[in-house]
Amino acid sequence: MAGMRLVIDGSRCDGHGICLLVCPELVSLDEWGYASVDEQPITEKTILARARRAVTACPVGALAILPATAPAPPVRRAASSARLADQWAATARVS
Ligand code: SF4
Repeated sequence: MAGMRLVIDGSRCDGHGICLLVCPELVSLDEWGYASVDEQPITEKTILARARRAVTACPVGALAILPATAPAPPVRRAASSARLADQWAATARVS
């Protein structure tokens, strides 16, 4: 099996959590429910199949399977960090 890996565009993740249900081996959620993934090459067929299902199940297209040697997606910022920055900016505007 050629090395493949699961990747996430954190700026797209909406925190639905479906990916964790489908592929708990590679996905974890932060305290707000936003996903991060283990991007190490996938070595087991069954886990690769689950990762493919997670890609298909994600309602916002935040996940992808790439060859292990492919460059990372251009947007790598964690969704929770982006949302915290947005919340901070909104708070700063109010006060
Ligand atoms: S990656 Fe997709 S399925 Fe997983 S938590 Fe984010 S939006 Fe939901």
